Amino acid sequence: MTYGVATVRELQLIRSGRLAWREREPPALQAPGDAIVRPFLAARCDGDTVPIHRPVSRALQAGIAVGAIDPVVACICGRVPFKGPFAIGHECVAEVVSVGAAVEQVRVGQVVVVPWAVSCGACARCERGLTSKCETTTQRTLAAFGFGPASGPWGGMVADKLRVPYADHMLVPVPPEVPPERVAAGSDNLADAWRSVVPPLHERPGARVLIVGGGARSIGLYAAGLAAAHGASDVDYVDENPRRRAIGDSLGARTVSKPSGVYDVAVEASSRTAGLRLALRALAPGGVCTAVGYYLASGTRVPLMRMYATDATLRLGVSHARAVLPDLLAFVARTGFPAERVTTLTADWDEAPRAYTARTTKLVLQRDRSG
Ligand SMILES: [Zn+2]
Ligand SMILES: [Zn+2]
Repeated sequence: MTYGVATVRELQLIRSGRLAWREREPPALQAPGDAIVRPFLAARCDGDTVPIHRPVSRALQAGIAVGAIDPVVACICGRVPFKGPFAIGHECVAEVVSVGAAVEQVRVGQVVVVPWAVSCGACARCERGLTSKCETTTQRTLAAFGFGPASGPWGGMVADKLRVPYADHMLVPVPPEVPPERVAAGSDNLADAWRSVVPPLHERPGARVLIVGGGARSIGLYAAGLAAAHGASDVDYVDENPRRRAIGDSLGARTVSKPSGVYDVAVEASSRTAGLRLALRALAPGGVCTAVGYYLASGTRVPLMRMYATDATLRLGVSHARAVLPDLLAFVARTGFPAERVTTLTADWDEAPRAYTARTTKLVLQRDRSG
């Protein structure tokens, strides 16, 4: 390939601790329902820090081989999970630059959130809200941006251009009154936090909420803030990190060193089995715990008899961002929910290879809207 104006730049994870810009052919419209978008804000998903900060790919392969890691991990992101080089990044806000002939809702120039998973919007699973498990787009693995070739040809979102199929369904416009940086994590982590507290609080008005934070770092904070903003009577946030504790406080949560009493709603965002057990044991009768971390081990122990005694529900699974984005963006537009307070590092787009390795809670890359 020749380098120059005919190519576009995308951020690739080369190996643990090392990222680089790579040039590739610009994506082109391939179907009448496609759109081409230009990301101008990209946030780093909490999960992306796993392969960046630790050489997990080989460890995961070895763990799967000896049975210590659940082999289903290979069905989520391929037989060799997180093996570089691959184009990384799956949270962005973008500007629409061109649309196919069949696109009716989305317009050139519009500012949109691009969900991390690719879905059609028309199959039975999409209609049930299981958009990240779309029957049209997913095969054995997920269909998603930023997880490598096993998840499809979509590339990562820290890129000059993206092709988005089913554009009328996939692209969710950012309301004009919402500053785009406020919803930089709308593609995944902010939507993940939404599903973990907003529907459970709707069913349990005024609930006591427990957030066990620190692993899925930004999700725990978004969840704490969203719970406080949706009428929780208490939001207790467990995390040892002083900066995240301060952010949790500013979003209306109360930072605590351990749970006190029982909770109707719990969010396990420490990404540790000890955190999962802590959250489940803290549930009140009829309580629900949503676990948003990764629990890779084969046979993770959960306190089932305790759950039986309290009539507890444990929910987990990938987030279906597309299904919740319209409600989420309308809520942010209506209330001014300050999700940007969770951002702990803002870096210039050109600095992405270095900035993406930062050990910080939430990184957002930004550049001018029109490039
Ligand atoms: Zn993610
Ligand atoms: Zn579908």
